[in-house]
Amino acid sequence: MDDRNESLILERKGVRPTANRILVLRAIRSQSRPVSLTELTEIMETVDKSSIFRVLGQFVEHHVVHTIEDGNGILKYEICDGEDDCTLDDMHAHFYCEICHRTFCFKTTPIPEIELPDGFTAESVTYMVKGICPHCSRA
Ligand SMILES: [Zn+2]
Ligand SMILES: [Zn+2]
Ligand SMILES: [Zn+2]
Repeated sequence: MDDRNESLILERKGVRPTANRILVLRAIRSQSRPVSLTELTEIMETVDKSSIFRVLGQFVEHHVVHTIEDGNGILKYEICDGEDDCTLDDMHAHFYCEICHRTFCFKTTPIPEIELPDGFTAESVTYMVKGICPHCSRA
C-alpha cells in the first residue's frame, strides 16, 4: 500500500511520519467510523497497545484525530477534519448502537446550535444518538 497519503496528512499537521504513526493513521482511516484503542489493537496485530496509545496521544495533541466519548464511557478516535484546531464545525452527530457497540458518524448532520448563557464558551460538543443500527435491527 502507498504510504504517501498518510505521510502527507501527518506532515500537514506537523507530525513527523514514522512507521508506527503511518500504521495507526491508516488503521483509523480504514474504518469509516470512530474506533476505540481496543478496536485498533485488534486491527493492528503488529503494533503493541502501548505504542498505539502513545501515537494516539500525539495525534490528539496535533489534531490529527480527536476523541469522542461513545456514550458508554469508551473513548473513540476519529480523523479530525479541522485545520490546526478542532472547530465546532468539525463536530457532527454520532450514533451509538446499543447492541454491537459501534459508533457511527453522521458527517452531514450538524449539531444543532445551542445558545449558552453569558460567560460560557463552548470548546467541544458531543451529540450522541443511541439506538439500534440497521445491521442489528435486521438480525
Ligand atoms: Zn477535530
Ligand atoms: Zn449495531
Ligand atoms: Zn464522527
